[in-house]
Amino acid sequence: MAKIQMKTPLVEMDGDEMTRILWKLIKDQLIIPYIDLKSEYYDLGLPHRNETNDQVTIDSANATKKYGVAVKCATITPNAARMPEYNLKEMWKSPNGTIRAMLDGTVFRAPILVDGIHPYIPNWKKPITIARHAYGDVYKNAELRVDGGCKAELLVTYPDGTEIRELIHDFKTPGIIQGVHNIDKSIESFARACMNYALDQKQDLWFATKDTISKKYDHRFKDIFAEIFEKEYKEKFEAAGIEYFYTLIDDAVARVIRSEGGYIWACKNYDGDVMSDMVATAFGSLSMMTSVLVSPDGIYEYEAAHGTVQRHYYKYLKGQPTSTNPVATIFAWSGAFRKRGELDQLPDLMAYADKLEQATIQTIQDGIMSGDLAALSTLPNKRTASTEEFLDEIAKRLASLMI
Ligand code: NAP
Ligand code: MG
Repeated sequence: MAKIQMKTPLVEMDGDEMTRILWKLIKDQLIIPYIDLKSEYYDLGLPHRNETNDQVTIDSANATKKYGVAVKCATITPNAARMPEYNLKEMWKSPNGTIRAMLDGTVFRAPILVDGIHPYIPNWKKPITIARHAYGDVYKNAELRVDGGCKAELLVTYPDGTEIRELIHDFKTPGIIQGVHNIDKSIESFARACMNYALDQKQDLWFATKDTISKKYDHRFKDIFAEIFEKEYKEKFEAAGIEYFYTLIDDAVARVIRSEGGYIWACKNYDGDVMSDMVATAFGSLSMMTSVLVSPDGIYEYEAAHGTVQRHYYKYLKGQPTSTNPVATIFAWSGAFRKRGELDQLPDLMAYADKLEQATIQTIQDGIMSGDLAALSTLPNKRTASTEEFLDEIAKRLASLMI
């Protein structure tokens, strides 16, 4: 059978530890046999980031801007323990943080649903995608502890010397203060990324803040979303048969629990941090969450939501058997191929992406799965497969779908 041809290269960002092992297995067994893979390869593994003084991360983000679609393996974000382990020159920044900042993107996370693994919320039938605003608020704050007997104020100074003051609190006894900010431009990008993604997925978009209490700060988020929706998206949403829905955050969480799923939930930075872990856990497993970074001008970077699965890697290095779940990494590849196929009008590439996902899900539904899934699955015939065996079984099913 002739291999499927591509037009534009995918930006391929390799990574670390167990996911780097998965990366190669996935390419060798599930991709190369069917696709004449055109990729521009960047090795974001920690040793190479260290060698290039992290330039490779910047180069990979620039390549993503140039070509429009990237697929990324999980990477180590160095901490103190990694310094001697990898003999690092510096504690390099998180590649995801660097890429997100360069693309000005929003991260969308969605669970992969399979039969036999039931969400903890029984009425959730369809995935809930969380879109987290990744700038500002409590993540870029200024904080102080103060003694009693002081007055705390917000002070804003303009270049012409104009000052604006606002009382925060008259402290009689010791306490704490926090200053947070956000930027209209960042909120606008977030709104556009969410609205574009909703159109792309043909799903409703929900957004919630606490604007009744935070009448200027959270209200600004609400207003920016509303203005952009009215001006740029209202007609497109109507044409696509989807809706934009704003409510208060406490009403939103209640509705989410009662819902069937099947929509995109846009969250402020903190809400997205907390709610994405809650939603991921309630759907079953972090290793079944996909993640895509979307820039406001329509650039896509696909990856798994989990990390490098360090504990499994150390077992692997000792020659012990592992049972690592490759599903989210496979779906990162399928997502990237489908998007590349859509942009380059390559129906064969899009069909391959569907079959790759189908083969993966079928394997789990046939009862063959990694240990993390076997612990959750209610299938009577389930069996825990090793990392290699699980991929072999997916490859078999893909082969029969590709005839
Ligand atoms: P992790 O790699 O997500 O793994 C945490 C635990 O979750 C694992 O030990 C494993 O549990 C389970 N798990 C996660 N993915 C799994 C999979 N595919 N199959 C089976 N089990 C899975 O998080 P971590 O160990 O805290 O972090 C390791 C490294 O990843 C860190 O250096 C961190 O910086 C990096 N990281 C990268 C990204 C990214 O690139 N996007 C995201 C998060 C973390 P058991 O051990 O109980 O089996
Ligand atoms: Mg979190």
